[in-house]
Amino acid sequence: MQQTIGGMTNSPHSRGDNRQPLHTSVDAIVVGAGFGGLYALHCLRRMGFSAIAFEAGDGVGGTWYWNRYPGARCDVESLQYSYSFSEELDQEWTWSEKYAPQSEILAYANHVADRFDLRRDIRFETRVTEATFDEPATRWIVETDRGDRVTARFCLMAVGCLSAANKPPFDGMADFRGPIYHTGEWPKEGVDFTGLRVGVIGTGSSAIQSIPLIAEQAKALTVFQRTPNYSVPAYNAPLDPEHVHKVKADYPALRAKARSRPTGFYFPFNTGSALAATPEERRRQYEECWKRGGLPFLGAYGDLLFDKQANDTIAEFAREKIRSIVKDPKTAELLCPENVFGCKRLCVDTSYFETYNKPHVTLVDVSKTPIERFTPDGIVVAGTLYRLDAAVCATGFAAMTGAYDKMRIAGRGGLTLAEKWRAGPRTYLGMASAGFPNLFMITGPGSPSVLASMIQAIEQHVDWMVDLMAHMRDVGARTFEPKVEDEDQWVAHVNEVSQVSLRSTCSSWYVGANVPGRPRVFMPYIGGFPVYVQKCNEVMDSGYDGFIFDGADRATNAPPEVRLTRRWHVPLDMDVISPAMLAAKRVPVV
Ligand code: FAD
Ligand code: NAP
Repeated sequence: MQQTIGGMTNSPHSRGDNRQPLHTSVDAIVVGAGFGGLYALHCLRRMGFSAIAFEAGDGVGGTWYWNRYPGARCDVESLQYSYSFSEELDQEWTWSEKYAPQSEILAYANHVADRFDLRRDIRFETRVTEATFDEPATRWIVETDRGDRVTARFCLMAVGCLSAANKPPFDGMADFRGPIYHTGEWPKEGVDFTGLRVGVIGTGSSAIQSIPLIAEQAKALTVFQRTPNYSVPAYNAPLDPEHVHKVKADYPALRAKARSRPTGFYFPFNTGSALAATPEERRRQYEECWKRGGLPFLGAYGDLLFDKQANDTIAEFAREKIRSIVKDPKTAELLCPENVFGCKRLCVDTSYFETYNKPHVTLVDVSKTPIERFTPDGIVVAGTLYRLDAAVCATGFAAMTGAYDKMRIAGRGGLTLAEKWRAGPRTYLGMASAGFPNLFMITGPGSPSVLASMIQAIEQHVDWMVDLMAHMRDVGARTFEPKVEDEDQWVAHVNEVSQVSLRSTCSSWYVGANVPGRPRVFMPYIGGFPVYVQKCNEVMDSGYDGFIFDGADRATNAPPEVRLTRRWHVPLDMDVISPAMLAAKRVPVV
């Protein structure tokens, strides 16, 4: 049995090495060694910058290092949820399943770290606690919980959008006799629930993936649900070698198609209107797309996330599916969401709803009567004690800004990022924030990030950022930062675009509503990945319009040399994302 500390199982990702504190200076510090940090290190090196990365975990992989819960796997097909910067890497790595499991994605991250010799510049088991901009020296001073103090011209935050676990402080947690796990900090050695009475709090993607597998082991499983979620079957399966061979024969073509899609990954979709179809046509189309499964189900029609009436049709179809699977009508109704379909991140499952047909699985509604407290013996809801031997918090993350909140980041005049972002994050292009010179945020708030296939979003950001750094070296500039007015306009634009989508209407983590006390602001950029990439390209081509450079000895506003970013200069797929389609609100997003 695991030890519990402060009510939550102590993460076994504990310190093993005994290294001396680092006191040195480099061109760039990278915080985080997930897919963002790894690619940043690779590009910095390629462009001749010295760099050190700090990573809180004892290995690479980020999300895939921490989220080892049963059933964890990607929901963007593996052939696309992978790096695209190296054709050799694309050719030599072979995914085993349509949606690879966590262990395989982690193995891939480790392979990348070894293949590109990245490990030697990463300090593991080290959490960055402070980053302070030293104005006279125009350098960042970065400090860690291991006593490191490293200065750098640039700081690249690769801290992740979904990396700060949300741990609701339920009363009595410390008294609970069993272990309490969080899906996002799962023990490395795994957990055996055989013969135990297990409680799972939450019904988001992590819960929906883990519940069927926990139910296979547990003696009894109780799920505490605050809001039901829509979920589409994954139809996961081993990848057909023929299909893999075909993709590999022309991988660049698939990557190019993916880049020109609103989501940064490719799947066939229909830009027509759900409301223009007859009920029979709609049903046929929904059945057809349901059979394909996964996130592409949302591509059934182009207006589903823009028109409530259109959305009602797909929502009702999904509810009918739930009712057809779950045998107990009361449980089925509890599992039927009422909110906009796709408003919260759509879930992708294997036998999730079927699991509620098992006699030892119970669903407890905590929407009106929240979890009261833990006791030594279990969880109390509405005066009833649910007896448990172990509990799992599948309660998600303080998304987008949570990892930033955990550090003290002080920019010009000592202003901290937390102070600046008190009413919501403010960035230009989701990459940088005025008052914090030479600080980059990979997939930061205000960029497509979590609304795109994230490895693509990461690569586009890193390419653009490292090109900007190379440009500064070309012109001899010491600092860059966004102009306040351009940042203000971008923040306003991000907000305005979000209003067009039904996604802004529900209490999701996209708006910070899952964690009490956070400002309600739609954080990712919802205007579509290619539109965003085009904007970034234009900014670069114009000589970094919207940015101020300081200390340059040559003109800074001439068009810069486009190096890594060249591959993002792809034509938009105008069939899908033309201005006319945008105006008509017929752009499928997932
Ligand atoms: P992360 O992988 O989160 O890595 C950030 C790293 O920074 C972490 O290792 C963390 O320890 C470290 N760190 C943070 N703060 C500090 C600090 N102060 N000091 C030192 N280190 C620090 N996206 C998709 O596109 N498709 C999917 O199928 C998909 N599935 C997902 C499944 C799960 C369970 C989760 C949680 C997310 C999923 N995502 C998916 C999103 C996923 O987070 C990204 O795809 C991607 O892995 C993010 O990489 P990253 O490097 O930006 O961040
Ligand atoms: P999540 O979607 O935020 O779900 C958290 C769940 O916990 C929700 O059901 C939430 O209810 C519930 N919850 C939170 N606080 C609670 C409380 N105090 N009492 C009761 N219930 C509470 O988090 P997640 O499932 O970890 O997923 C986060 C994101 O990570 C996903 O949306 C996705 O982007 C990514 N992810 C992807 C996959 C994949 O399939 N590849 C898997 C896992 C995660 P409310 O809804 O009422 O807030």
